[in-house]
Amino acid sequence: MVVLHIAGLGPAGAIVALRAAERGWDVTAWDPRVRTEGRLPRWPATYGALMAEVPEWGQRFFSPAYVPRTVTHRERPLAYSYAMLNKDSLRREVEVSTAKIRRGTVPSATGSPHRVVIDCTGAPTDTGVFWQVAVGYVLPRHLFSDANLATFMDWQQPTPSPPSFLYIQPTDEGILCEETVLATRTSPRQLIDELTQRLEARLDAEAPEWRKVLREQFQRGEFHREVVVIPMGTRKAGASPMDACPPGQRYYFGAAAGLINPATGYSVGAALNQVDQLLDRIAEDHASQEGTHQPRKARLSRRNAHRVARRANAELARALRRIGAELISQASHTTLRDFFDAFFQLGAQRQLTYLTGHDGLAVAATMWALRGFTGFNHPFLQPIWKRPGHMIRVAAGK
Ligand SMILES: Cc1cc2nc3c(=O)[nH]c(=O)nc-3n(C[C@H](O)[C@H](O)[C@H](O)COP(=O)(O)OP(=O)(O)OC[C@H]3O[C@@H](n4cnc5c(N)ncnc54)[C@H](O)[C@@H]3O)c2cc1C
Repeated sequence: MVVLHIAGLGPAGAIVALRAAERGWDVTAWDPRVRTEGRLPRWPATYGALMAEVPEWGQRFFSPAYVPRTVTHRERPLAYSYAMLNKDSLRREVEVSTAKIRRGTVPSATGSPHRVVIDCTGAPTDTGVFWQVAVGYVLPRHLFSDANLATFMDWQQPTPSPPSFLYIQPTDEGILCEETVLATRTSPRQLIDELTQRLEARLDAEAPEWRKVLREQFQRGEFHREVVVIPMGTRKAGASPMDACPPGQRYYFGAAAGLINPATGYSVGAALNQVDQLLDRIAEDHASQEGTHQPRKARLSRRNAHRVARRANAELARALRRIGAELISQASHTTLRDFFDAFFQLGAQRQLTYLTGHDGLAVAATMWALRGFTGFNHPFLQPIWKRPGHMIRVAAGK
């Protein structure tokens, strides 16, 4: 049986713990933020996901799916759906599973030479980080006149640099309205006040009663402000894309493995999507190491070649998305709005390849298809022609 230790109990660690326990593995998961053993640490954020990325078994953890609005200069309807994670239902299943939840960090190895450690300790914030930064309030539904509120991105209203858009999602507590900078190199601390002011100015126009309601919420202790700071485009040193790390190494998963997509800031859908592949690979590696299953040489080299190819393709996806994030971080509001107007005219499958998954060739195909709408001279693409050396360094993780 695989003896598995998981470092970190954010969504990724919890998802791994659940699926590994369901396989009958001996699972112990560690996090210094655990307050009561057997109970997961708090997850204060609200998590959404594109449902195309969520496997069938994971859909039970989500609210009913819906198609949110997307607005550039005009409405650009999406052809895929979105849903919010029902954190309580996922957390409950993990807590009643056979996985042991412990406070602290994974103890150093003793006794079990074949134990497996998966690092799910979150994204590093060092060299090459892009930030997604947002400020949101949760407000009662009755404040808004519009019936179809859920909005993935609304770029209509011009903003100064760094440009921001409006994200709106219905949650169990009310309507979450968030002013969001998609990708920036600016330190998040410098942006929080500015984004708060932008959001409040929008709400003054859209829901004039909001200040009074917020004051009442505050007095009742029900005030909910969400500050989003997501490090994107990074991964732990030594972590290669999760479905292709060399056998025998410590495994990485979730944000630690670079699963946060710099086009969205999301990783929860990807973690649900990729967890079983990771566990299959660990089972394979474990069987080889214990000598219970020695694949024939030819099969082994085929397997390794397959892993190398997947790794190269995932690395390409990462490099291209880092370039995409850099271009977003340098663009003005008008340029970004124009760019997204082109993006949302692509076919659904092309859009999804960019927003989810780790297929570098498909990401490249999406970027190539985009030039059909923007041409090569679009201001969004200018930084590539003006500073090609810089873009190569960005792609490499700098
Ligand atoms: C406000 C907000 C809103 C967001 N919204 C979305 C969204 O809608 N959809 C989405 O997909 N993503 C969203 N994100 C991004 C989100 O942070 C990540 O997708 C998700 O949290 C990554 O999960 P993770 O488990 O990989 O890492 P984390 O959530 O960062 O969890 C890492 C865990 O590791 C623990 N840890 C650290 N060091 C150690 C150690 N040495 N040993 C043991 N444990 C350790 C930490 O205490 C932490 O609990 C949002 C983020 C924020 C802040």
